[in-house]
Amino acid sequence: MTAATPHKTANPYENAIQQLDRALRYLEVSPGLADFLRRPRCEYTVNFPVRMDNGDIRMFTGYRVQHSIARGPAKGGIRYHPMVSMDEVRALAMWMTWKCAVVNLPYGGAKGGIIVDPRELSPGELERMTRRFAYELTPIIGPEKDIPAPDVNTGPQTMAWIMDTYSMVTGEPAPGVVTGKPITLGGSLGRVEATGRGVMYTTVRALRHLEIPVKGARVVVQGFGNVGSVAAYLLQDEGAKVIAISDVSGGLVNLDGIDVRDALAYAKAHGNLVQGYPKAKPISNEELLELECEVLVPAALENQITAANAGNIKARVIAEGANGPTTPDADDILASKGIMVIPDILCNAGGVTVSYLEWVQDRQRFFWTEQEINTRLEHIMNESFYAVLDIARNMKVDMRTAAYILAVQRVVDVAQLRGFYP
Ligand code: GLU
Repeated sequence: MTAATPHKTANPYENAIQQLDRALRYLEVSPGLADFLRRPRCEYTVNFPVRMDNGDIRMFTGYRVQHSIARGPAKGGIRYHPMVSMDEVRALAMWMTWKCAVVNLPYGGAKGGIIVDPRELSPGELERMTRRFAYELTPIIGPEKDIPAPDVNTGPQTMAWIMDTYSMVTGEPAPGVVTGKPITLGGSLGRVEATGRGVMYTTVRALRHLEIPVKGARVVVQGFGNVGSVAAYLLQDEGAKVIAISDVSGGLVNLDGIDVRDALAYAKAHGNLVQGYPKAKPISNEELLELECEVLVPAALENQITAANAGNIKARVIAEGANGPTTPDADDILASKGIMVIPDILCNAGGVTVSYLEWVQDRQRFFWTEQEINTRLEHIMNESFYAVLDIARNMKVDMRTAAYILAVQRVVDVAQLRGFYP
C-alpha cells in the first residue's frame, strides 16, 4: 500500500543519472565507462494477454530491466502499479545495482513492473496475470541470471506463483529464482520485516550520530505498507514516538503518539487502509511531510520530497524507506538546511540483504533461525552505514553522494577487473 502518486513531472531515470553523475565527480572514471554505468544492459518489454473472469481478453504491459550483472546475477523486485513506466523501471534497476554494491552483495541490479492497479483484479485474474508475466520472463530470469523479489503491491504469494511457473516451464523446482517467497516454499524467516528492520537499524545509528535520543524521537511515516509499517513499529519498540502515518487513503496524526500495532490491526480489519482510525486525526499527505519531527520516513513512492516542499521539511533525519523519494534539487535544499538523509540505496537495503540470505539458504537447502538472519542483517547494515558515514565525513559530501561513491567504485572495480568482452 502506498501513500501518494508520484510527482508527474520528475523523471526518475533522469534523477538517477543526476545522482550518479554527482558521485562520478569524485571518482576517476573515463567518459566511456561512465556511459556504461548510466545505461541498463538489457531492457525487456512484454505485452501479454490475460483471460479475465468475464471471459474477455485484456492486454497488459510489463517490463524487466537489468541494469548491471557486473557483480553477479541481476537482482530486484517487481511492482504492480498504474504509474509504472519504462523510465521508472530503468531508474529502479539502476538503484538496485548501487544498493547491492553499498551492502556488498554479489549481485547486479534489475527491476520489473506491470502497469496495473492490482486492486481492480480478482484473485484469479491476479494469478493468471502474474503467471503469464513470469512465463514471458522465463528466458531472462533464473537463480544464476536474474532473481525477482517483491516490491510495491507484490508479496510472498506473487513470488510463489512466479517460482511455480518458472519451475513448471524449466522442469525442476527452482526456489532460488525468486526471493521473498512464503517460508514453506524456501522463503527466509525475517524477510517480510527485513526492509523495515534495516530502516530502523540505520535510523537509530543516524540519531546516535547526531546525538538525538532515540527515546521520544518523533517519527513521521509516509506509506504504511510492508516497509513503512514495520519501520514504524520497530522504531516504536526502540522508544521512538510515531506521531503520524499515512497510506493511499490519507494521513493520520496524533502528537501524543500512535500505537502502530493497533493502527496496523485496524488497517488489516478495514481493507488494509488506515482511513477512519479513531485514535488520530486526518491530515493531508502534504501536511504530513512538513510536520515537525526528528525522523521522516518516506516509505511510499518516488518524488515525494521535491524542490517544491523540501524547504518546508522540519525533520532532522530523513530515512528513505522508498526508492527515489527525494529529487536531486530537493537534496541540495535539505543539505543546506543540515538535514541528514539516509539514502534509499543504504536505508532500505535490508530487504535485498535478506533476499540474498534467502537465496544462499535455497542454494544450500539449509535454513537459519530468525535470530541468525537478524544478526547477519544488523551486522551488514551496521558496516554499510558506518562505511558511508566515513566517506561522507572524509570527503565532505552528503550521505547519498557518499553511498554512491562507495557503490559506484565497487562496480567500477569489478568491471575493470573483468574487462570488456571480447
Ligand atoms: N524491492 C526491494 C527493493 O527495492 C527488494 C529487492 C530484492 O529483494 O531483490 O530493494
